[in-house]
Amino acid sequence: MATPITANSFVEALKKEGVKVEEVRDWRNHNRNHKGPWGPVHGIVIHHTVTQGAKETVDLIYDGHASLPGPLAHGCITKDGTVHLTGHGRANHAGLGDDDVLRAVIAEKNPPKPNEMNTDGNRSFYGFECENLGDGKDPWPDAQLEAIEKAAAALCRHHGWNERSVIGHLEWTNQKSDPRGFTMDDMRARIAARLK
Ligand SMILES: [Zn+2]
Repeated sequence: MATPITANSFVEALKKEGVKVEEVRDWRNHNRNHKGPWGPVHGIVIHHTVTQGAKETVDLIYDGHASLPGPLAHGCITKDGTVHLTGHGRANHAGLGDDDVLRAVIAEKNPPKPNEMNTDGNRSFYGFECENLGDGKDPWPDAQLEAIEKAAAALCRHHGWNERSVIGHLEWTNQKSDPRGFTMDDMRARIAARLK
């Protein structure tokens, strides 16, 4: 359980971890806090965008779309490994998921397979949306995987969390398949090594 990181500390933590950061428009004040609570935060959810093209992808994650207003994540990680900050506060990324998974994340244990949608994830999780088509063919460049590892590690370090605080959207709800193209176990191993 933790108070969400401030916008300034978020930028600082990312840069200290060696991440290339771009601040998008009014991201510090861009959120869905008028729709519900944000925090306490318990972990990080990794997503893929099902899009191609850095500019279009970052704009989509900032603005959202007609049926799902932005921000759609706190950061958008493009293929070149840049972390574009798109929101600070509640964001429309995790949606409903399984309370058993949330309990496991809080306890930093391996999560059970999700089978319920009874818990508001947007309250409890930071979200990173990563530019990828999610078709299992679109490659994940090394620079992008490294940025995912570093961005998640930066937040873990700030909060004193370990790698089990980082899950994929597909581990939060059985309605989602993202991220596809690398495994969350591999990503968690990278984050764990970085946090040592
Ligand atoms: Zn997702």
